[in-house]
Amino acid sequence: MKVFKSKENLRSEIDEFKAKGNSIGFVPTMGALHEGHLSLVKRGFHDNSIMIVSIFVNPTQFDKAEDLDKYPRTLKRDISLLETVSKTKIWVYTPSVKDIYPKKIASEKFTFDGLEHEMEGKFRKGHFDGVGTVVKRLLEIIKPHFAYFGEKDFQQLQIIKKLVEKQKLNVNIVGCKIHREPSGLAMSSRNERLKPNFKVAAPFIYKTLKKVRQKFKTESAAKVIQWVTQEFDEHELLELEYFIIADEKHLKSVIRKSKKRRYRGFIAAYADNIRLIDNIALN
Ligand code: AMP
Repeated sequence: MKVFKSKENLRSEIDEFKAKGNSIGFVPTMGALHEGHLSLVKRGFHDNSIMIVSIFVNPTQFDKAEDLDKYPRTLKRDISLLETVSKTKIWVYTPSVKDIYPKKIASEKFTFDGLEHEMEGKFRKGHFDGVGTVVKRLLEIIKPHFAYFGEKDFQQLQIIKKLVEKQKLNVNIVGCKIHREPSGLAMSSRNERLKPNFKVAAPFIYKTLKKVRQKFKTESAAKVIQWVTQEFDEHELLELEYFIIADEKHLKSVIRKSKKRRYRGFIAAYADNIRLIDNIALN
């Protein structure tokens, strides 16, 4: 597998590859890879002859220094996992912090038409400026034809689409379905850190979302929100941080349902000290 540590080497190989008329797909990650990440790479092979996967723990998107320090770094394992998909058609880019932040480790400031103020934006200060900064830089280095993002981080996906539109970046952004464990729990690098009883409890999040989808057919958003709040109040192990029903485009909480809009339910909850997020399409 080709592994690049600097953008100069990567760029010259990309230029050569593109000159032959090949299409390049890109999956940005922070490593600690799992089947969810692999599902994005596999999806990318429908459209591209090679896939580039970046593995970079981006310092500017963490609001707590402790979370950045604790983030698992498992490069060898990540590469072996990617090799199970392809040894020759995946290139890995693992830049140093200096490669991405040559001058100062700081975010650029973005406005994403208000998307950045909802949900995760409220609870993770500066997070989306950090995400916007790193994704913009990676897209400028790699200049892929397609880039793939998981619906697991649905708000992030919408923000990246907005970033591409506003910065006029020449790339197609593709949203990919949430990959789940057999229990229904959305796959995440954080699941590894769940203690056994919390691992057993965590699928409750998706079970609740599925019931939300049923209830939302006949009940008001306010009633469904009240029900979810109560379900979590009664749960012994999981603590709800937020549940909202929002329209997919603007991510604004729904006040009155409209048939013309597409809605999703979004949950963030703590299992012990581990924060889990998930979402579901409602119509
Ligand atoms: P991360 O390494 O957590 O920053 O994630 C890298 C990319 O993988 C993001 O676009 C995520 O949305 C996506 N991703 C992470 N987990 C999943 C999953 N369970 N299903 C689909 N995509 C995922």
